[in-house]
Amino acid sequence: MGVSGFIKGFSFLRRTKPRARFHPYAYIQWRNFSDSRILNRNDSLLPVLIVGAGPVGLVLSILLNKFGIKCTVLEKNKIFSKHPQAHFINNRTMEVFRKLDGLAEEIQRSQPPVDLWRKFIYCTSLTGSILGSVDHMHPKDFEKVVSPISVAHFSQYKLTRILVKMLENLGLGIHSLEGPEGLHPEPLRGREILMGHECVSIDTTDECVTATVSFSKEGKLLTRKIQSKILIGADGAGSTVRKLVGIQLKGEKDLQKLVSVHFWSKELGQYLLNKRPGMLFFIFNTEAIGVLVAHDLTQGEFVLQIPFYPPQQNLEDFSPEICKKLILKMVGQELSDIDVIDIKPWVMHAEVAERFVCGNNQIMLCGDAAHRFPPAGGFGMNTGIQDAHNLAWKIASLLKGVAPSSILATYETERKPIALFNTALSVQNFRAAMAVPATLGLDPTVANSVHQVINKGVGSILPSGMQKVILDGIFSIGRSQLSGLILNENNPLGSSRLAKLRHIFEEGKSLQLQFPAEDLGFRYPEGALVPDSKDVASAPELPTGRRRDYVPCADPGSRLPHMNVRVLSNFPSEETISTHDLVSVDKVEFLLIIAPVEESYNLAQAAFKVAEEYKVSTKVCVLWPADTVTGFQRGSKAKLAPWKNYSDIIEDSSHNQYRKQYLEWLKTPRTWNTGQLYCFMHNKILEFDFESLT
Ligand SMILES: Cc1cc2nc3c(=O)[nH]c(=O)nc-3n(C[C@H](O)[C@H](O)[C@H](O)COP(=O)(O)OP(=O)(O)OC[C@H]3O[C@@H](n4cnc5c(N)ncnc54)[C@H](O)[C@@H]3O)c2cc1C
Repeated sequence: MGVSGFIKGFSFLRRTKPRARFHPYAYIQWRNFSDSRILNRNDSLLPVLIVGAGPVGLVLSILLNKFGIKCTVLEKNKIFSKHPQAHFINNRTMEVFRKLDGLAEEIQRSQPPVDLWRKFIYCTSLTGSILGSVDHMHPKDFEKVVSPISVAHFSQYKLTRILVKMLENLGLGIHSLEGPEGLHPEPLRGREILMGHECVSIDTTDECVTATVSFSKEGKLLTRKIQSKILIGADGAGSTVRKLVGIQLKGEKDLQKLVSVHFWSKELGQYLLNKRPGMLFFIFNTEAIGVLVAHDLTQGEFVLQIPFYPPQQNLEDFSPEICKKLILKMVGQELSDIDVIDIKPWVMHAEVAERFVCGNNQIMLCGDAAHRFPPAGGFGMNTGIQDAHNLAWKIASLLKGVAPSSILATYETERKPIALFNTALSVQNFRAAMAVPATLGLDPTVANSVHQVINKGVGSILPSGMQKVILDGIFSIGRSQLSGLILNENNPLGSSRLAKLRHIFEEGKSLQLQFPAEDLGFRYPEGALVPDSKDVASAPELPTGRRRDYVPCADPGSRLPHMNVRVLSNFPSEETISTHDLVSVDKVEFLLIIAPVEESYNLAQAAFKVAEEYKVSTKVCVLWPADTVTGFQRGSKAKLAPWKNYSDIIEDSSHNQYRKQYLEWLKTPRTWNTGQLYCFMHNKILEFDFESLT
């Protein structure tokens, strides 16, 4: 795989140029899209239209804007969602955010201190006995050895707020009813978010995608047509775009139905903050069962997840008053300040779209529109944001004239396997979460089967009121397993259950929060890399649902490993940066990191020549080992002349346990191809074939 990836990467230009020559009409169209001056004159055709202003659509819009690509975002709701929903931001997403104008740092400043959310707590009530507690942060999570940044806990609506602010700072207008520019700007500039605009139909031709968009004006429902070169469906789990283009989802449906109750209580926040701080609280008692997500203990902001069994139960069974009573049953004592904000049913699925790209590479799905997972492990939004990161540089490469439209097909080749893998991982983790109630005698699969029997079996012929009574009766018999009479060390059954629980927690067999091996160790065995028969990609290890460490890897298609370095032109400045900081975020640029050895310099020379021929920006970084600081002044300048776009960097993490491995990667040619080094392209590693250049 990827032996001549870098060069073949450039070879998309080889394909583009003949295309332009032999198909003048297509060439003219092509130039239109890659030339922003022409776009400004004829703005009826947008470069990119994003449907959906959830976190994924907003992040994609920021990334595209940073590359200088214009895009308009449609959002069917008139205001941004205020439901907290996602809250765990994984390591890779934080690495993406770290490159976006201080976004990661702002999240770190604004999130609750890590000691308030590092644990999951299992208890009979929030003030009752603790059945177990699991700390999900390990000392190495703070050492910054494998990543320059750590995971975060920050509510989705707060993230949305920051993303919108960032877009405003980038010059995008938010057109809402209250907005100064009005709801319906004409003409579109490719620099706006249109609130209250719903995509209702899509047509494609070879030249463009036309979206029909509905909105209301003075009480009337109107439509307008918006044409774009590319349309992105970032419109969530129920994606209209996915349905309109006829893409099916595959996987398991309806794993569980739940009701989310968003509420505030400073009293509860203060109690938990002082007595038992944590992120998730799994509560099991004879009167109620649920999972409390502590979004912010200091502010007292929570979401309670309660199992929901329609049609015997309906949303009226979860009125604010009933929810308050349920909350008190789970707290185990009176609270005077519960304020229920929002009650929302939702269904857990484990499904991935059959295709992520369609319509002649003009329409793409990303985020929940392309995959919907159980929230166990918090992979949903994270995977979606990483989809956007993958897609943005490819769209920019196309619209800047660096690559043909076939580069967009590689988005599916690379991201769909990741979505399938993360689905399997989330399902494993969801099943691990069920181990605790099952050990307590409350197997949720049994509850679901009972519910199925009532719905579809003999129970279905009973009047609905009676079905509800039966269901409540069966569940309350189940919950009686949690009574203090059974669940104590003196009762043989209780003591055996408590011992099994301890074992589950100690062995890491309960719900996990962090998956470093999967979070950072994902790899694209094919896609934007050109496959090579010499490379037999090993299949990723199947998910176990348990935490596994990430081991840095420089195989083609892996994420660029992090290493602390210092830029030698600033020497003796002590400022340390990450190898990730060497990668450009605002232009499509190839980055080649080499060792200061003869054949690597030759390789870099050849890369510069190819880059010049194809007018692709390329940067070379010469990485010097820590003890060679004096050699660099004579070294690179002479070896790389006349090229100037290079810098000498020096490793700054001699304590790093992976140091030797990193340096070896840069120096050692592979046995099957001499002269081979690694090229890092936008955080992805491409292998570089020296021989094919000479
Ligand atoms: C309880 C819970 C906890 C979770 N916790 C985590 C977590 O900790 N970490 C994590 O990574 N993920 C988590 N998730 C998943 C996460 O919330 C989703 O993956 C995330 O919201 C997906 O973002 P999105 O932008 O793809 O879609 P959405 O957030 O659904 O946004 C889609 C947007 O598109 C708009 N839209 C829809 N149709 C149209 C249309 N036709 N025209 C115009 N606009 C349209 C919608 O109004 C919406 O604003 C959790 C989910 C749940 C339910």
